[in-house]
Amino acid sequence: MATYTPMIQQYLKIKANYQDAFLFFRLGDFYEMFFDDAINASQELEITLTSRDGGGEDRIPMCGVPHHSAPNYIEQLITKGYKVAICEQTEDPKQAKGVVRREVVQLITPGTVMDGKAIQDKENNYIASVTVFDSQFGLALSDLTTGENLVAICASFDELLNEIYSVGAKEVVISNEFPESLKKQLVDRCQATLSYQLDTNTTTKFEVILNQVTDERLVKTFDRLLTYLERTQKRSLDHLQQVKVYYLQDAMKIDLYSKRNLELTETIRSKGKKGSLLWLLDETKTAMGARLLKQWVDKPLVDRSKIEERLLMVETLIANYFEREDLRQLLKEVYDLERLAGRVAFGNVNARDLIQLKKSLQQVPEIEKLCLTLQKEGYFSQQLDACVDLAMLLEEAIVETPPLSIKEGSIIKDGYHSQLDQYRDASRNGKTWIAQLEQQERQKTGIKSLKIGYNKIFGYFIEVSRANLHLLEEGVYERKQTLSNAERYITPDLKEKESLILEAEEKIVELEYQLFVDIREKVKNYIPRLQGLAKHLSKLDALQCFATVSENRHYCKPNFSSNGELSIKDGRHPVVEKVMDSQEYVPNDCSFNHDRGMLLITGPNMSGKSTYMRQVALTSIMAQIGCYVPATKAVLPIFDQIFTRIGAADDLISGQSTFMVEMLEAKNAIAHATSQSLILFDEIGRGTSTYDGMALAQAIIEHIHEFIGAKTLFSTHYHELTVLEEQLHSLNNIHVKAIEENGRVVFLHKIEEGAADKSYGIHVAELADLPSSLIKRAKEILTELEKEKTEAIPVKTKDIVKEETFSDSDSQLSLFPVEKQASNKGQQIPKKEQAAIELLKSLNLLEMTPLDAMNELYQLQKKVKS
Ligand code: ADP
Ligand code: MG
Repeated sequence: MATYTPMIQQYLKIKANYQDAFLFFRLGDFYEMFFDDAINASQELEITLTSRDGGGEDRIPMCGVPHHSAPNYIEQLITKGYKVAICEQTEDPKQAKGVVRREVVQLITPGTVMDGKAIQDKENNYIASVTVFDSQFGLALSDLTTGENLVAICASFDELLNEIYSVGAKEVVISNEFPESLKKQLVDRCQATLSYQLDTNTTTKFEVILNQVTDERLVKTFDRLLTYLERTQKRSLDHLQQVKVYYLQDAMKIDLYSKRNLELTETIRSKGKKGSLLWLLDETKTAMGARLLKQWVDKPLVDRSKIEERLLMVETLIANYFEREDLRQLLKEVYDLERLAGRVAFGNVNARDLIQLKKSLQQVPEIEKLCLTLQKEGYFSQQLDACVDLAMLLEEAIVETPPLSIKEGSIIKDGYHSQLDQYRDASRNGKTWIAQLEQQERQKTGIKSLKIGYNKIFGYFIEVSRANLHLLEEGVYERKQTLSNAERYITPDLKEKESLILEAEEKIVELEYQLFVDIREKVKNYIPRLQGLAKHLSKLDALQCFATVSENRHYCKPNFSSNGELSIKDGRHPVVEKVMDSQEYVPNDCSFNHDRGMLLITGPNMSGKSTYMRQVALTSIMAQIGCYVPATKAVLPIFDQIFTRIGAADDLISGQSTFMVEMLEAKNAIAHATSQSLILFDEIGRGTSTYDGMALAQAIIEHIHEFIGAKTLFSTHYHELTVLEEQLHSLNNIHVKAIEENGRVVFLHKIEEGAADKSYGIHVAELADLPSSLIKRAKEILTELEKEKTEAIPVKTKDIVKEETFSDSDSQLSLFPVEKQASNKGQQIPKKEQAAIELLKSLNLLEMTPLDAMNELYQLQKKVKS
């Protein structure tokens, strides 16, 4: 039996350790993939699948990408959730005996990728690791691009999923013993790539960053993550920061469903940032500030003093417009210091990055001065570390506009390094000498057009046009190259100078690279200081962003109550208001207190019920992240949790039905809400039959009222539920006002006390331009239903009537149940109704506009009523 060639054997040996990754196997200028990797990669990347003889019986599937365009292909695979192992030749092929040695130098995964499109400027790129401890979970998070590390204990798997989902971790490192059923949920719910790491023994080098972690479970969980990072990255992780322990109960809890429903960081429909609360708030000037803002939005505070501290700083920034504008200008010049620090540690910064770093540092003294001015108002006590010595080093060493490449010189300033200056002198002197030689040769030969040029193949040469050749002295010039109308010559003197110049230039390039690497190493020592500075600057940025948005959009500073009272005056939905033009937005009040803990909202479809409920939740969230709120006055309790069940957002990802999701979300709220929580239930029970739905809705309302006492906004299309106000002490009816004008419904979007009188669903159908005949028919049915309703108990009426109306085989008759009833009883139809029927029959519906139909209907009604 034929055996594989040594190279394929080598490939297989390496691949055995990287089963779950695409192995990019370096062969000359290409990365090749073989076997299944080749088949899969050719599909994912749409590249040609070929094959090669590998010594075995069959040809081996193969595909490859040129090494210089590999980053692009790697990025594509990573964004799709795959991992890529980069296998390089680690010895000079010329020196190799037999197959050249190859090793995997890095495993790139969704959670460890450092650059490219997979990394968003304004978002962290976390990798997580999870360990199960009885019923609890240790969670560790690390952002390799910024060096940030976090650990927390999650009390339940739901909590864990929430955390992983909300930080958007793309990869989760677990041990082999992790329960299968939970694995599946991690992948499905959080769309995370799973990775495995068994042992957890990192080098002692990292013990120091774990100093503040005392819980052994967290140490173990973080260790697993770190071991994985060390194993896969195989390079300096010097920028990893102190591991910070955080406690889930320090933040307002908003579960995965509610985050999605409230569109805090992305919208339900497009999954994009645009249209979300984060989008509205993002007036940050730096990428670090934007990332912090996202973290804040994801974790509203519950500690009153911390909230008030942020609010006071925002207030100060609002009060000092000019300082704030200056601050914004300065921040604009500040580069992403956190990610830069990461790249410095990884050794992939170039001179342009360092210039950016210098410019950023140069802003800091001014920013500090501004903070001192604001300090007079209190609260801006931070000392900023401008890393002055580093800024000076970069100023002295690196030219203002260096090239992208770090290997071709032109990076280091004159005067920074004496040896470099000497080489440069030599090179410059040589060039002056050549310029002088050109003059001398022209005089000597009398050829005015004689010139000295340079190209890479022949070096320096003297060029003389064909017409002047006879003027050259014989035997002095050696011909090197013939062009169509000129000849090129060299002389021994010229060649001598040339080698001096070239030698100097070669040394310059070498030395510049060396100096650059040295500087880069020096910058490495500043990593912790740069990270500290980054933290301060990002906080300033996030705060100025709140101040800017609050002022521009006329928000007010919220106050907090300690007795659960909530009172919002002229509240607005911040995003809807921004999108629609604030002139048109109708502000609404909202109040809760001891006797008013639940609000049952009725009102026509499209009138603004959902918007109203969300605006209350968003107002509270904005307040608890330390921002002003869209209202003219707001007194708010501090909510521990917010639960929402809004709209009919299908949870398509997990393949559950709408109603099941609805019930899951309801369960989540009911199981976890406390009297300090806010619950929004928007048309709950809609996903099932009327009786079912209404029964459930009522039972849920009663349950919250009796056992939970959470502040609740409950919108419903079941008008029947409004009678509950009489039975449940703290339940109050409110409604969104709509009026009828010329038979058309006009939404006022105004919330008023009491229940709505009807549902106006048909009017909305009309607005949506359903055929006028259909609308008309719906109105008839409705009138009939409503008539019946007054005669029977509310819940049952509809169904009884429905049966009666539709069981009749004669559709004409069923159109007019009035007529039917009348004739059944052998009674005469009143005259005016008969006339109306005649008129109705004569109408040509297909020719009518909805407006005409409305008018006719109005006339008809008038006839019957009068
Ligand atoms: P409902 O839940 O009652 O069906 P929505 O809350 O979805 O209604 O609101 C429907 C539309 O009405 C919104 O998309 C918005 O354009 C508009 N709207 C809602 N509230 C207001 C308001 N207070 N002022 C102006 N327009 C509003
Ligand atoms: Mg709604």
